[in-house]
Amino acid sequence: MRYVSTNRNSPAVSLRDVVIRGLAPDSGLYMPESITPLSENFFRQMHDMDLPEIAFNVASHFLKDDIPLGELQKMVYETFDFPIPLVPVQSRLYALELFHGTTMAFKDVGARFLAQLLGYFTQNEQQELNVLVATSGDTGSAVANGFYKVPGIKVFVLYPKGLISPLQEKQFTTLGENITAVEVNGTFDDCQRMVKTAFTDKELNRQMKLTSANSINWARLLPQSFYYFWGVAQMGRNATDITCAVPSGNFGNICSGLIAKRLNLPIHHFIAATNINDIVPKYLKEGSFQPKPSIATIANAMDVGNPSNFVRILELYHGSHKAIAADVEGFVCTNEEIRATIQEVNQQRKYLLDPHGAIGYRALNTYLDKHPKSSGFFIETAHPAKFTETVEQVTGTPIPLPANLARFAGGVKQTIELKAEFNSLKKLLIE
Ligand SMILES: *Cc1c(COP(=O)(O)O)cnc(C)c1O
Repeated sequence: MRYVSTNRNSPAVSLRDVVIRGLAPDSGLYMPESITPLSENFFRQMHDMDLPEIAFNVASHFLKDDIPLGELQKMVYETFDFPIPLVPVQSRLYALELFHGTTMAFKDVGARFLAQLLGYFTQNEQQELNVLVATSGDTGSAVANGFYKVPGIKVFVLYPKGLISPLQEKQFTTLGENITAVEVNGTFDDCQRMVKTAFTDKELNRQMKLTSANSINWARLLPQSFYYFWGVAQMGRNATDITCAVPSGNFGNICSGLIAKRLNLPIHHFIAATNINDIVPKYLKEGSFQPKPSIATIANAMDVGNPSNFVRILELYHGSHKAIAADVEGFVCTNEEIRATIQEVNQQRKYLLDPHGAIGYRALNTYLDKHPKSSGFFIETAHPAKFTETVEQVTGTPIPLPANLARFAGGVKQTIELKAEFNSLKKLLIE
């Protein structure tokens, strides 16, 4: 399969180039040239398959011409070696829990699959590949753990000193091996700027192979579509009129869901659930897309003022606002509403939400109230223990630290400290 840039100013390329480059040379995002539905036969059998089997079937639909099926199957099974249960919260409403992986957030899925694909495509290369990633918290840990000990690849995680939680920090500064944590005396924006400059520095790129692991990489997006099939399979054969609410920031996760729908997965309707960074809900209502500076909220992984994957959704619907709005509606949630939702669902349903999942829950619950024949699930994107302070403050009850997070707590932090300037990063990379 060939991939085209959403900007249409650079040539179509192979999967290998898509995975290694991340971004197209014209700064567009890569999308498959065409998306054809899966067979009716697959949808009949899907209900009897387990998660890795479903994932492998959907993966081979896209990748069978580019990767030998045996290799692909190994990569899929490596990626999905943790459960993704559909948990009933109340009548007709379920949580698809994506937080049972290594770093307990849904980003584990994309980061692991990207690591597998990059490892595969660079296995016979002499020169080492260097993955650079700037993080404000969760992306860094998912990427570092996804690439941990992948041969031939070195990872540099840049993060703002003192601006992420100690637990987040431990998840990628204690690993060692091929993971280097770089503590920058500056802000997240400084880190991002340093990484971006690295990709455009000619001298650096002559000396070493650099690539990015942020969510614009197609290899992070594709595997996220697999778990929507698994969610529908777990709803059972008799579920009809399924609606799915997705807590959204950069709109990669929901874009994956819409790709699954394009493959004919029977999800009737999507809800793009955001915090008060409401750029896409506004677009869905009014038809114009107006990026703005992001506003800090307690669902901080979704504090995005210019969602990078939105262009992919436009591409999928040929730019038609009418077509997008027919499949997707928006929902906006304030900090107060997030807190009230965590509190209420904890008390009445005995289900503990994290601040991001709370937005998804509230969006879906509001929708199902108005649509008594529908049922559905929301994506629970992170474990509540990742946002202990906010959640404990609301419920008044301490959250026990899950084993997956606790195992980082004892590790020794190892970092390299840098000034917030590109030249010190360059020096570090060259040395
Ligand atoms: C990244 C993230 C999101 C937002 O996902 P997008 O794909 O950027 O829309 C939501 N919740 C959590 C916990 C996240 O880490």
